[in-house]
Amino acid sequence: MRDFQEKIIDDSILEKMSLENVFNIFNDNVFPMLDEEEREYCRDLQEFCLNLDPKIDKSKDVYVLFPELGKRGYMQRINLWKDFKPYGMKKEILLATHMSMLDPQLELARLASGILCGNPTFHYFKHGGTNEEIRKVQDELMSGEKVGCIGITEPSQGSDAVNMKTICTKTEEGDIIYNGEKVYTTNGPKADYFCTYAVYDSEKPRKTMVQSMISRDMGVETNRLNISSVPRVHIAHTILDNVRIPKEYILADNGEGYVRLFEGLVPERLGIMGSGIGICWAGLIYGIIYTNLRKQFGQEVIKFEGVGFGLAELLSKCTAATSLALQAATIYDEKVLFADEINKDAEKWVAGVSSQGKYYVSKLTHEVCYEVQQHSGGISLTDNTPIDELMDTSKIEEVIGGARNIQLFIIQNQLRRYKSLL
Ligand SMILES: Cc1cc2nc3c(=O)[nH]c(=O)nc-3n(C[C@H](O)[C@H](O)[C@H](O)COP(=O)(O)OP(=O)(O)OC[C@H]3O[C@@H](n4cnc5c(N)ncnc54)[C@H](O)[C@@H]3O)c2cc1C
Repeated sequence: MRDFQEKIIDDSILEKMSLENVFNIFNDNVFPMLDEEEREYCRDLQEFCLNLDPKIDKSKDVYVLFPELGKRGYMQRINLWKDFKPYGMKKEILLATHMSMLDPQLELARLASGILCGNPTFHYFKHGGTNEEIRKVQDELMSGEKVGCIGITEPSQGSDAVNMKTICTKTEEGDIIYNGEKVYTTNGPKADYFCTYAVYDSEKPRKTMVQSMISRDMGVETNRLNISSVPRVHIAHTILDNVRIPKEYILADNGEGYVRLFEGLVPERLGIMGSGIGICWAGLIYGIIYTNLRKQFGQEVIKFEGVGFGLAELLSKCTAATSLALQAATIYDEKVLFADEINKDAEKWVAGVSSQGKYYVSKLTHEVCYEVQQHSGGISLTDNTPIDELMDTSKIEEVIGGARNIQLFIIQNQLRRYKSLL
């Protein structure tokens, strides 16, 4: 049982507001969309979450939990690491969904370390990289023993990230020196590794972008930002003042960093959809449980149409969003990730849908949590239910991985290209 600052929720309702009941209702809605292997994978995840849940101390940072995730290969599941199977984009989405239902702040930090920082190490080897230093980084990130983050956004370059101002120069020995600043680096203050981008020539970022794996002891300085909605996750202002990166830690050089940046965006956005779907289901299901049990005017409040119809509408949207995410992941797995030959049309489709889905799902997280709070009443604003924490985390889902308008901007460009078909 969680420690509350002051408990006012009815004991008989509190008993039913359990993660186990959340999973039961989730399974009833989502399992019919999955095959038996996927259902088995979810059952394992749920068993893991139910065991971890009582050990989570909400007064502590999330990072103490990383090694627990690492032991089960749950820092990410897009790529094969050691012999943790099954894997692929659909498994990653299901992992992210469950982690958000368990603990949305833990999920935010896991995504930044396991996917945003970890995924580039897999891409490095896929593209022929051979340095064992990167293998060690990968193992440390995947085991949860070390914390990773990604440094793209800068004080003056947010949505316009490609025109970054962090400059790098190459030494005679082939090492690289970074000078610049990054902001909103999720996990930054706690991070051991920073997957960070810079350019040789800020006038030609696409041709000169570099992607490197910087270790904190190479001289990175971080200062924590005050972001009150996720108090258990540390987010940084990251300063790179003559940080020298040995050549073994360069993941992609001479403009290849730009290609990798965009290569990473599709799995990243699909992954964020998974985190968002978990927030949607958790928020909605806690609302369903509470309103089925809370009585006013002599009856359960869900029986008032003002409440029940609202939740019914949210359920329809959650099902639609989940179906979209699972379908996008299925196509990505079958036609891109596991395909002998990548299907270019499918790859293009998934790239477009990752923006549409990220836009839709992250916006929905906010709508679901806010509406559930209105339908559930005051209790959902207190720490007696997890709904307010879900609400707080939902704000961030919409900004990370490219703000709302940037997704719409990408989708708009797709619409404008249709002129050539006319
Ligand atoms: C909590 C949190 C965690 C984050 N984690 C990370 C991280 O780990 N690593 C990292 O590198 N970054 C991270 N980010 C940064 C995030 O990706 C950026 O905040 C985001 O890309 C937007 O940049 P910006 O905040 O500078 O906003 P700006 O780019 O300044 O945008 C301001 C407003 O203008 C709009 N806008 C901008 N350009 C256009 C356009 N062309 N058309 C229409 N509207 C436009 C935006 O949608 C927004 O509403 C994080 C951010 C937050 C808040």
